[in-house]
Amino acid sequence: LYVTADLHANGVIATDERATHYLRNVLRRQAGDPVVIFNGRDGEFEAEITALDKRAVQLRLARQKRAQDSVPDLWLCFAPLKKDAVDFLIEKATELGVSAFRPVFTQHTAATRLNLDRLTANAIEAAEQTERLTLPDIHPPVSLDQLLQDWPADRQMILCAEAGPALPIADALQRFTSAQDKSHLSDEKRSKPSRWAILCGPEGGFARSELDRLNKLPFVTPVGLGPRILRADTAALSALAIFQAVLGDGN
Ligand code: SAM
Repeated sequence: LYVTADLHANGVIATDERATHYLRNVLRRQAGDPVVIFNGRDGEFEAEITALDKRAVQLRLARQKRAQDSVPDLWLCFAPLKKDAVDFLIEKATELGVSAFRPVFTQHTAATRLNLDRLTANAIEAAEQTERLTLPDIHPPVSLDQLLQDWPADRQMILCAEAGPALPIADALQRFTSAQDKSHLSDEKRSKPSRWAILCGPEGGFARSELDRLNKLPFVTPVGLGPRILRADTAALSALAIFQAVLGDGN
């Protein structure tokens, strides 16, 4: 269960509103019941409920069960989608280990706003479900211009491009692993990046001018996801699954 309080062995905490609701009304826990908690920073702890009321649940922390873990430094940059699709995307991409979501408005993005509080709630639930101990950062949406202006040059961008002569994604990623194998022999600059991002377009696809611009950037690798045009959420999740299959945790 995710809580916001700081955690340390033998500490006592009061839960926040969300965790209180969950323990009292969903799980229907009582005083004396055990519960396992994390806060995204301090690892995972075993705890015991000592008291419950409407405002908060008091927990006595016992021992740390797992030290804080980490996920690969992998951003998912995506064009905001309709409510159901974006909820699904945040949930599944959190399960798949994304470290940050970077929503980006492109020319053909139909959705005009995102409810970041709802997306955060989806990410928390998914983290709980999948037992990851970190929460992904969810950034406010920016324009493609803004995203590229602030882009860190050492972060490799895997561009899902439904049109054009892109390599299949697995082959494109494989090139980074073989580049690393050979890097001690010759060119250090070819070593595998440690920071990654996947960029997927909106349901309307990227504009030709956007693809042309992206393809000229030194940190961009365009990739294909097969012969069919996938829905934007399917495309992002396929790319993430293949990324993990080829590169593991990306380091
Ligand atoms: N309307 C667009 C078209 O017909 O060209 C389709 C856009 S697709 C629904 C949404 C996004 O998913 C694309 O911008 C791209 O990033 C990604 N995508 C979908 N299918 C893909 C594929 N086969 N290869 C690479 N990317 C794909």
